[in-house]
Amino acid sequence: MKKTDRDGPRATVQPLALNVVAGGAGFIGSHLCRALLDRGESVLCLDNLQTSRPSNLRALEGHPRFRFLRHDIGQPMPAEVLRMAPRITRVWNLACAASPPLYQRDPEHTMLTNVVGTNNLLRLAEAAKARFLLTSTSEVYGDPEIHPQAEDYRGNVSCTGPRACYDEGKRAAEALTFDYGRAGRAQVRVARIFNTYGPNMDPDDGRVVSNLICQALRGNEMTVYGDGSQTRSFCYVSDMVAGLMALMDAEFDGMEPVNLGNPHEMTVNELLGHVVALTGTRARVVHRPLPVDDPRRRRPDISRAGALLGWAPRVSLAEGLDATCAWFAEELVAEPAAGVA
Ligand code: UDP
Repeated sequence: MKKTDRDGPRATVQPLALNVVAGGAGFIGSHLCRALLDRGESVLCLDNLQTSRPSNLRALEGHPRFRFLRHDIGQPMPAEVLRMAPRITRVWNLACAASPPLYQRDPEHTMLTNVVGTNNLLRLAEAAKARFLLTSTSEVYGDPEIHPQAEDYRGNVSCTGPRACYDEGKRAAEALTFDYGRAGRAQVRVARIFNTYGPNMDPDDGRVVSNLICQALRGNEMTVYGDGSQTRSFCYVSDMVAGLMALMDAEFDGMEPVNLGNPHEMTVNELLGHVVALTGTRARVVHRPLPVDDPRRRRPDISRAGALLGWAPRVSLAEGLDATCAWFAEELVAEPAAGVA
């Protein structure tokens, strides 16, 4: 076929990267899909829609470089994806229920998503000679005895408790990923994601940021588990996505995990104070029992991400919470007014 003037420059200027984003309909995954499309790449989004929301993809539907395929990564890879292998340049694994109440609802599925699902995606990356990125988690540190948590800390995870399906599943997924890397079967990257928040969170997924904001906006009781003195460090989603992309792009051997998160640590009570101030709610605060194995403290040491990627979060808690509250307020508009005083 004769090449036209239009084909030539297009092909050289923009060699399209094809990204497979597993979990692309989820909270962080949907922002990642958007960011990859915005920089001119193509995205094949795989998602089983177990805990993610099709509405997160509404803005991407019809985009000429975006495709969605409903697929559970624990199942064999569909033939049509395997056929695309020669074009696939990057495989991102963001597929797993990540909120404690949701990943504990079907623990066997959570474990297998991390182990079998990660293996299926690694095999795809190997066949495609694509680079693979696993989103692991701060949960690999369990209830940490070292503070803040750096990547060389081996963690304090209960392998028998209700969080084990996720924590141990992610630890196994990391082991598998580094085994592929060590054997030269794929170029690998492992991000350990700390608590992240922002638009596209599921209002009802049970996380502290989404719970407190939605409870405040709906005028429902605000739930603090335990005495609220436990700490977390919250990263805004655009910072997280920038970190993930920098890690995927970074030229290094990839054989070490990289913490991504915001080191600004606070108690749940402090977070509650911010949400109350921002929303002006008069909702009552109620205390509920602290979940089993709930980590007491969590804060990332992000020195490695700084040195390797030149990355650090930029969005302050005030800006991030403001944007998140505004987004939830829009989301909840469609809801019936029950519960609002
Ligand atoms: N939490 C809370 N109220 C809620 C939901 C969660 O006080 O409505 C607490 C939870 O016990 C934990 C912290 O907030 O100590 C963060 O919980 P989340 O589920 O958001 O994330 P993770 O425990 O995975 O860090």
